Amino acid sequence: MDELALTLANLFCAADADQAAARTLLAWAQLTQPHWACLLFWDAELGRYIIGDTWLPAMSSMDAPTLRRHVLKVAQQHDPATAGTPEPGFFYQPLNTPDQHVGALCAGLDQVPAATDEYGLLVNCTARALYTSTRLEQADQVQQQLEAERARLEQLLQAVEQQQRTIDQLLLAERQLSASLEAKVEERTAALHAAQARLIQSEKLAVIGQLASSLAHELNNPLQAIQSGLGLIMSEVDSKGSPRMHADLSTIQQELERIESIFHQMLDFYRPVSFEFVPLDLNAICEGVRVLLRKRLQETHITLVLELAANLPLTCGDSNQIKQILINLILNADEALAPDGGTIALRTTSDGQTVCLSVSDDGPGIDPQHQARLFEPLFTTKTRGLGLGLAISQEIAQRHDGSITAHSTPDQGTTFTVRLPVRRHCHDE
Ligand code: ADP
Repeated sequence: MDELALTLANLFCAADADQAAARTLLAWAQLTQPHWACLLFWDAELGRYIIGDTWLPAMSSMDAPTLRRHVLKVAQQHDPATAGTPEPGFFYQPLNTPDQHVGALCAGLDQVPAATDEYGLLVNCTARALYTSTRLEQADQVQQQLEAERARLEQLLQAVEQQQRTIDQLLLAERQLSASLEAKVEERTAALHAAQARLIQSEKLAVIGQLASSLAHELNNPLQAIQSGLGLIMSEVDSKGSPRMHADLSTIQQELERIESIFHQMLDFYRPVSFEFVPLDLNAICEGVRVLLRKRLQETHITLVLELAANLPLTCGDSNQIKQILINLILNADEALAPDGGTIALRTTSDGQTVCLSVSDDGPGIDPQHQARLFEPLFTTKTRGLGLGLAISQEIAQRHDGSITAHSTPDQGTTFTVRLPVRRHCHDE
């Protein structure tokens, strides 16, 4: 019994199914003393035996493969669940656990083993040991499969993560692209709005010009008649009239002159003047305007300071029109400085691409809420203003492929800057 206990303990300590099978055979041989012994495994999936280990005494005349083939053949024909002797000298012992049939022990015995406790214990233990070690091996295989599956899933996960990173990069690129597209759309929209605004402005100016032209045409004759009538009346009452009458007549004359000047201003702009496109020296134009306005500026106590850049590049255009811009800007500055007068600076500069002409005053500046409307035709804050000077100046600058901008700080002054392209060759436009 001690020996059997040791054998069985060994059996349960087997490292794997092969060792368990070898120890089963040994235990069986020790207990039943057979001529030979063979272990069969039951393949539950296939529903048949597969051959296992063989025990043969060293001196046996049989060879193991022949014995195994014979055992397998006989056992296949026998009921797998029942012990028995399918042929003389052949004993078949099924190995069953409570759950399932696991195999069989076949032996060459002269007589069937007695159903002792020891024999029953050996059969049960070998069945259980085989079952356990086989299940453990299966579990190991499942474990390995699971490990392999886990490794595969990890690889898959890494691939998915890589894809996610790629998608993130693509999304980022897409966002950057759409942001730059949006910026471009905004840029184009702003340019479109600016072009629309310019068009509307030009149309407004054209309408005003047409209106002025037809008004001037209609009103010129009556105006001439009123002016000459007024001249006659003034010469008649020359010495006789009261001072009050003289003052009234002179006011009428001034207002008539003002009407005439308004018509001229409007007509000057509308009249399709011949547009020269010749080389222009802005410094020379500034000098010319200074001479032209000297008397007026003296009367209004204005000091005109010229800061002209040396070697100023040329631009192309119509000198009279550029003069008109300058006069408009200087007269606006002059009016802003009234009644005390002050200093107006006229500067020319160039960065090689553009020539700039700026008119600065140290007057009261422009109310921020008016700044966006400065170049609108008919926008004026003056009681006797027409609101055409800046609109006309901008139109002229744009006709010369240039621009005009205003920069003003309340209580500090205002600077208007005209920018025109530097040109080496002029072609008539
Ligand atoms: P007008 O002189 O007939 O009002 P403009 O188009 O020349 O028409 O000027 C429009 C308005 O711009 C003026 O009424 C004035 O409010 C403002 N402005 C122009 N130049 C100046 C300046 N140098 N300083 C302050 N305000 C100015």
